[in-house]
Amino acid sequence: MRQTGQMAKSKKNKSSDYSVADALRVPQGPVRVEDFAPGATPAYPGKGKDDAPDQMAEMAPELSDLQERLYAAGRDNEQAPRLLLMLQGLDTSGKGGVIRHAVGMVDPQGIDLTAFKVPTAEERAHHYLWRIRKALPGPGMIGIFDRSHYEDVLVVRVDELVAAEEIPKRFDEINAFEAELADQGITMIKCFLNVSRDEQKERLLERLADPEKYWKYNPGDVDVRNKWADYMDAYSDVLTRCNTEIAPWYVIPADKKWYRNWAVARLMVEHLRALDLGWPAADFDVESEIAQVNAS
Ligand code: ATP
Repeated sequence: MRQTGQMAKSKKNKSSDYSVADALRVPQGPVRVEDFAPGATPAYPGKGKDDAPDQMAEMAPELSDLQERLYAAGRDNEQAPRLLLMLQGLDTSGKGGVIRHAVGMVDPQGIDLTAFKVPTAEERAHHYLWRIRKALPGPGMIGIFDRSHYEDVLVVRVDELVAAEEIPKRFDEINAFEAELADQGITMIKCFLNVSRDEQKERLLERLADPEKYWKYNPGDVDVRNKWADYMDAYSDVLTRCNTEIAPWYVIPADKKWYRNWAVARLMVEHLRALDLGWPAADFDVESEIAQVNAS
């Protein structure tokens, strides 16, 4: 099973010394979801759950600084880079938790969040990528997709909403689409939140045991759970067929919420660092502006 290694974490605990992207990136070639351990904590530099809040707090200023640089780069510059975090996973895998705890560390002004639901009549009248294109982040923004175009090769496949032979064509189409996004300067972070079947059961039962959590429960979740094997096949094919160099998949072990949230935040940090963003130069004469402000 992959992702069981702790990346010699006791030795590698300086922030620049380890790469969660390297630890969680899906290798090229055929893979199965079952190859990945949902309870693992690869590359985590601390001890465990107890120090997770400290690890998050340590990361927060850098994430905030990097996001501000991105946002600044996007002002008046159509060519500025953009980041797109795509979250996929079965019910209870924690897409909402990641948005609250990891994405929530960032200034909301720089975030463009879209949750993709069952397509509306208008959306259904268009190509499945139509609504995705409309939701892409602008220059300097961090786009968050809560579900994505991958639903069109996941639920659509499992529930047989299109002919089976359409699915491999969509894999090719999605790869071409993502290559186009990369050419437009969009860095994609595609995360599959990998929750185990046992943990999902516990989380569903927790929702049913607490009146304050009933709102999170949807009787339809059990129907999806009963199609677990079909979803594992569908996800395995996605991780195999749509795992390109420019838009790789990351499998996030999601049984430990603290690790899942930390890992996604850390992936954002690493991808933003790689953009190597400075601050935009002033497009005015600084000295003369100082003089004018002083004189005002
Ligand atoms: P989440 O679990 O992401 O918080 P939710 O269950 O609270 O979402 P829902 O209103 O159920 O929110 O919306 C998500 C539903 O929309 C899922 O059942 C998902 O499979 C479905 N969906 C999303 N995209 C598509 C699509 N392209 N075709 C069919 N169904 C889709």
